[in-house]
Amino acid sequence: PEDSVIDVSGVKVGGQEKIVVIGGPCSVEGEEMICDIAQQVKDAGGVMLRGGAYKPRTSPYAFQGMGIEGILAMVKAREKTGLPIVTEIMSEKHLDLFADVDIIQLGARNMQNFMLLKELGRSKKPILLKRGLSATMEEFLMAAEYIFAGGNTNVILCERGIRTFEKLIRNNLDISAVPLVKMFSHLPIIIDPSHAAGRRDMVQPLSRAAIAAGADGLIIEAHNDPAHALCDGAQSLDLNQFDTVMKDIKRRAEFEGRVMMP
Ligand code: PEP
Ligand code: MN
Repeated sequence: PEDSVIDVSGVKVGGQEKIVVIGGPCSVEGEEMICDIAQQVKDAGGVMLRGGAYKPRTSPYAFQGMGIEGILAMVKAREKTGLPIVTEIMSEKHLDLFADVDIIQLGARNMQNFMLLKELGRSKKPILLKRGLSATMEEFLMAAEYIFAGGNTNVILCERGIRTFEKLIRNNLDISAVPLVKMFSHLPIIIDPSHAAGRRDMVQPLSRAAIAAGADGLIIEAHNDPAHALCDGAQSLDLNQFDTVMKDIKRRAEFEGRVMMP
């Protein structure tokens, strides 16, 4: 009956009152770049740093991520800022490389990769489980159940938009996922307004909707130079825009009688 609170290296996610924001680029592009963004994410009020090192790209010719070098750069950014780091895993063969990561992201495209779910169940790390592109709520919660079944109860759910017939946006944010998770599960759920729409001008309105619906937090893509980003530039906020959205989230949280961390 109680909501679970997931502890990510000291950052507590879940439990109705607090809202956490994770910020950072789609992909790590270099150590200096990620350290610079990490500091600005922190200054704006972000409590965790995101950044992909292994990227699931539609085209095999697109930037695939920096791999282990990307993870090491994220670790450097954590050393400089103290922000816990989240990065996506694509294969169970890579688990050892994620030993120093605070929370492992399982991306939408791998939500029903059952071998990977089982391996993450055996791990002790918190998992950020993203909803599949066309997954029903039952499939989404059952994917979380796979991780639980292996003994790992540190799961945070993430609604990141589902695929519909709409073409003006990349995906359609299913805001009803938030109350449904609250009804059928004790797990925290955060919203990814960046992948949900695929356009930066939608990030602020969708963040407002997330807070109004009762989400436990947000994961937002922010880049120091979105026009030249190697991945997902069109949906990435620049760091001034990130700061503006963060101030708006803080006000909205207070309006709802909640607090934005820290
Ligand atoms: C990402 O977070 O950059 C990502 C690839 O997300 P998703 O799995 O939701 O598409
Ligand atoms: Mn992305």
